Amino acid sequence: MRVDRVETFMVPPRWLFVRVETDSGIVGWGEATCEGRSETVRTAVEQLAELLMGRDPLRIEDNWQVLTKGSFYRGGPILASAVSGLDQALWDIAGKHFGTPVHQLLGGHVRDRIRMYGWVGGDDPGEVADHISAQMDAGLTAVKMNASGRMAAVATVAELDAVVRRVAAAREVLGDSRDVAVDFHGRFSVANVRRVAPLLEPYRPFFLEEPVLPENPHLLQSVTAATSIPVSTGERLYSRQEFLPVLQAGIAVAQPDLSHAGGITEVRRIASLAEIYDVQLAPHCPLGPLALAACLQVGFATPNFLIQEQSIGIHYNQGAEVLDYVVDKAPFAFINGHIERMTGPGLGIEVDEQAVRSADKRGHAWRGPVWRHSDGSFAEW
Ligand SMILES: [Mg+2]
Repeated sequence: MRVDRVETFMVPPRWLFVRVETDSGIVGWGEATCEGRSETVRTAVEQLAELLMGRDPLRIEDNWQVLTKGSFYRGGPILASAVSGLDQALWDIAGKHFGTPVHQLLGGHVRDRIRMYGWVGGDDPGEVADHISAQMDAGLTAVKMNASGRMAAVATVAELDAVVRRVAAAREVLGDSRDVAVDFHGRFSVANVRRVAPLLEPYRPFFLEEPVLPENPHLLQSVTAATSIPVSTGERLYSRQEFLPVLQAGIAVAQPDLSHAGGITEVRRIASLAEIYDVQLAPHCPLGPLALAACLQVGFATPNFLIQEQSIGIHYNQGAEVLDYVVDKAPFAFINGHIERMTGPGLGIEVDEQAVRSADKRGHAWRGPVWRHSDGSFAEW
């Protein structure tokens, strides 16, 4: 079997799908979405495809080595996202070739179902409660919310109290048997995190996400030392090498993105590395159906897997939804807050190719917002 053709599709709301066709007729799909950078990644996929043409798609590891290292300049979100989409497609091809789900090729399933969480928006505590109720109605037992909007480097009492009030409101509606994770989104200074985290401890958040910017892993240990709340990070880290210092800094939850961190091949290795630091895997995935399916395939085969993010109904998804591009929506059904083990070959979902081709004609130009503080200076989103 040889790789014959590689195509990319920029589909709303903000995703980039990759389709790899072989001379045997087997087609694999992957997702190379890097939010806000899709056009750039599309070009990277097209360039990397030159290295894949005519090669055996079943030699996934060798292909990963060549795609990742087969050029003097390597790494970073653009190239790693491009490799990720191609890598997922190769695993999809392998699963279809052998007639088995990807998790079987990864050593077989270690769990029967995966716990899922959803996003809640809302700025004031009343809205938070409403949004959480909606996710509970959708069958979820865990949610995540942003700790705040833009945040001054040294927060005021009002800003700090607003964070605490929103988490308190979430805990009240969730009760003791459901969970709320709190995403700091790289918006907080270390000083703010160290101040607010102890105030959140009575509400026992599931984890505290991205308390420092990913380019500052040297700051992370002062955060993990300052709070009993499990600390998570990793959606903006792209390799094992970038995960090593954050694992050493004492995080509890690693959040590689299957579409940013080298695909199924590299995230499996990140999970294995995390395991020896007693760190659990909770892949980042506010993305499309292919990225989500790749996350789940890893999750079914990975012992230290905690929970899976998903973006069905997220506020970013304007113009299209996660389920719009799959033929059968049943594999993504929530049952008691979980997704049951997927049994279809490859990634376990069937892409609605016609829907993808026509969505690509519409395309998208999604961009992350640029925020400013009230004094006009740049603010982290
Ligand atoms: Mg996050």
